[in-house]
Amino acid sequence: MSEQPQKTNLMNLSPRELADFCVSLGEKPFRAQQLLRWIYQFGVTDFEQMTNIKKDLRAKLAQTCEIRAPEIVTQQKSEDGTMKWALDIGGGQMVETVLIPEEDRNTLCISTQVGCPVGCAFCRTGYSGFNRNLTLGEIIGQVWRASTVAGFSHNEEHKPISNVVMMGMGEPLLNLRPVMGACEILLSDYAFALSKRRVTISTSGVAPIIKKLAGKLDVALALSLHAPDDALRDTLVPLNKKYPIAEVLDAVREYIAKSNANCGRVTIEYVLLDGVNDGLDQARALAKLLRDVPCKINLIPFNPHDSSDFRKPSGNRVERFYQVLYDAGYTVIKRATRGDDISAACGQLAGQVKDRLKAKNGIASVQI
Ligand code: SAH
Ligand code: SF4
Repeated sequence: MSEQPQKTNLMNLSPRELADFCVSLGEKPFRAQQLLRWIYQFGVTDFEQMTNIKKDLRAKLAQTCEIRAPEIVTQQKSEDGTMKWALDIGGGQMVETVLIPEEDRNTLCISTQVGCPVGCAFCRTGYSGFNRNLTLGEIIGQVWRASTVAGFSHNEEHKPISNVVMMGMGEPLLNLRPVMGACEILLSDYAFALSKRRVTISTSGVAPIIKKLAGKLDVALALSLHAPDDALRDTLVPLNKKYPIAEVLDAVREYIAKSNANCGRVTIEYVLLDGVNDGLDQARALAKLLRDVPCKINLIPFNPHDSSDFRKPSGNRVERFYQVLYDAGYTVIKRATRGDDISAACGQLAGQVKDRLKAKNGIASVQI
């Protein structure tokens, strides 16, 4: 028996690619808009249900295409309402996605890679090493899959996802094409239709890519800084040896100058590590460093995990660090930890997957 040719997963196509694909089938490009609506606003994956698409085209699509998001393997709910899913991406691997419900919004934190090649000293994901990039379908599939629980936008009874942050596993700017495609789908009026201010890429500072994206991609940018000087940052974020602070901040200034989504300000993320980067002198040095970088500063007390000896600073130390920046005139936010009872907080993703994989498949060691 001859093997069936592999079907095209429409979730792997950006809106532009989907329009090209429709043209390649002899259709008008607006068919792509109809398909996007069905998939991302109604959550429909069965072509037969797409009633405004003519019958013969539906049959043709069903024969050659599929609409497939990663399947949910486990779902956990925190006491504070945070939800975490482990999603199956084949080959015995999983990625994690976290939904953080708040009064006025529903934020989804998605992953862009399996593991991460940057290897920051304090990060659980980085500690696990790098396995592979996620495809577009696997990235946008996380939003789609979470929407099957939170609700799709057409259904007014639900509270659909309103914000997406690329702060899960991986470095988004080292997986550029799929990440850009995902942003297009998140922003498209025919798909998730999110405001550009509500889509955030968080980066450890891939300076040339930030520069390249200036004026080409307009979403909110967050820079993971974590240190006020190169000597310390080199030890925490190894990528700093390649792209030191001054070069990264230059690139960031260029990006935000050409962006509307950022309202002129980048978000600086700073994970506070007890006795490492949370001293008063370091706070003062940070205030000085950022003087000519329009920004708001997000302080994230370290979330402990079993692969790291770093410690979370006391509330008192966090407060003192905060006060220096506040007195220097910065907008500073202390990020509340959400979902740490289910290991869903920043930097905690991946560990449980590894353990769960072990339990599920009896594999002694799985690289994520
Ligand atoms: N790779 C990107 C995005 C994913 S990490 C980046 O580094 O920006 C998202 C955020 O979680 C980053 O700011 C990262 O520094 C932070 N983070 C990683 N491990 C953490 C931990 N254990 N506790 C608190 N924040 C952590
Ligand atoms: Fe990668 Fe971000 Fe973790 Fe650093 S903090 S290892 S860049 S996921």
